[in-house]
Amino acid sequence: MPDDKTYSPGVMKYVAEAKKLMAEREAHLAEVKKWKFDTIAVHGLYSVEEALSRNQGAVIEPLYLSASQAYRDSDELEAALAYLVPTWCYTRIANPTTYYLEWALALLEGYKTGHDTSCLVTASGMSAIMSATDPFLVKQKDGPEKINFVSCVQVYGGTFQHFSVRKMRERGIEVRWVLHPEDVNEWKAKIDENTRFLYMEAPSNPQQSFCDSKMLAELAHSWEIPFIVDATCATPALMRPINCGADIVVHSLTKSITAGGLAIGGALISRKPIVTKVKNDHPLFKESFAEYVKFLPYRDNGPAASPVNAMFALNDLRTLRSKMDLLSQNCQKVAEFLQGHPKVYRVDYLGLPSFPHHGLAKKYMKLVDSDDGKGSEVNRYGHLMSFGVDGPPENARKAFDRFKLIYRATDLGRIKSVATIPAISTHQQQGEEARRMADIPPQLIRLCVGGEDPDDVIADLDQALKAV
Ligand SMILES: *Cc1c(COP(=O)(O)O)cnc(C)c1O
Repeated sequence: MPDDKTYSPGVMKYVAEAKKLMAEREAHLAEVKKWKFDTIAVHGLYSVEEALSRNQGAVIEPLYLSASQAYRDSDELEAALAYLVPTWCYTRIANPTTYYLEWALALLEGYKTGHDTSCLVTASGMSAIMSATDPFLVKQKDGPEKINFVSCVQVYGGTFQHFSVRKMRERGIEVRWVLHPEDVNEWKAKIDENTRFLYMEAPSNPQQSFCDSKMLAELAHSWEIPFIVDATCATPALMRPINCGADIVVHSLTKSITAGGLAIGGALISRKPIVTKVKNDHPLFKESFAEYVKFLPYRDNGPAASPVNAMFALNDLRTLRSKMDLLSQNCQKVAEFLQGHPKVYRVDYLGLPSFPHHGLAKKYMKLVDSDDGKGSEVNRYGHLMSFGVDGPPENARKAFDRFKLIYRATDLGRIKSVATIPAISTHQQQGEEARRMADIPPQLIRLCVGGEDPDDVIADLDQALKAV
């Protein structure tokens, strides 16, 4: 109950009724938390009981398209709008289908981390990133004029634009770029008392840069600020940064989590509680950041997810672990082929021992609930890689234009193999200087290997590279 306001007996009747439902859900949640990763991914919080008592026995979570919810009387309306009872009111605020996705993601991201988590699903990965960062960038009473945050420079192109244009140029909030995120000292040198958070993308798209999450989380916490990680390319099947101390994880659900490619979406998952020195009167701000964002700024800013998209994401999520295993193994095979190809001068893939960040990734990227026969989980490195084609940039374009099976698209995380040339697509807007800083030469082709037989992908690459 939020404040000291008192409510009528009619309202309190609904609160008491809701308490019963909440106790039932709590009991079920405790059971779900005992399950393995795959079981949580398949069922989430939706249960046989939930199906039979409230959803006409539907085996699959129903898709609630209604924009709003009706109430029995004014007392229930009052209880709902004061957030005294579980409710969804209006799809900009919440929706039953989105609710199941949020819980599944919260549980998967918190899996075996020893932490409770909460999740907010948004319209896109970018809106998740905006929702995760903006609450820390508000002006504080008697606070400094100039505030900043520190981020690795190897971020998704949209994130680079959002940080450098929307936040820095338009709002005067300084972003301090770290060029070598694997070097903790570079992060240390960029932080001061006006730094509001540390931001890392791991593995980064497309450079596959990586960081020592544990050390960065410790560093952030020593300054009483949160460590935020975009783990889109890893997914919770391969890495759960909350395990290493991260406060907030963001995802573009559009990518590997919805590998089927039918929906746009984002997610923000936070650990309970997060570390921050930003003062905010609302208790949820620190205690359950994702819920705070959901009930307040998200409600007011409006980046709501569509329940249709939530349904597609939920459906793809069920097989996440086995899919990431297969896709990673396929990518490994393709990367090894390219590494031995005479027309390829460079292959960036975390799974290659010769790749500079391999050691760090080996420490952090492991297929959840797998077993190497010796009691450890096996390493899997995801399905994103890039390779550089020998000679002038035209050569890369020539090979790229000859792909027959592989799609040319600025897409990734798909069940179908897709490739792009980042310098002329995803990273075109940021200019040559920024591309040099982020190490994205025009010869670089980003390839995200899908679920095809890897031999067929290799054959396509081989015939395309003959054009060079
Ligand atoms: C695509 C992507 C985003 C942005 O997500 P959208 O769903 O396209 O808004 C953010 N981070 C990473 C790593 C991405 O690949």
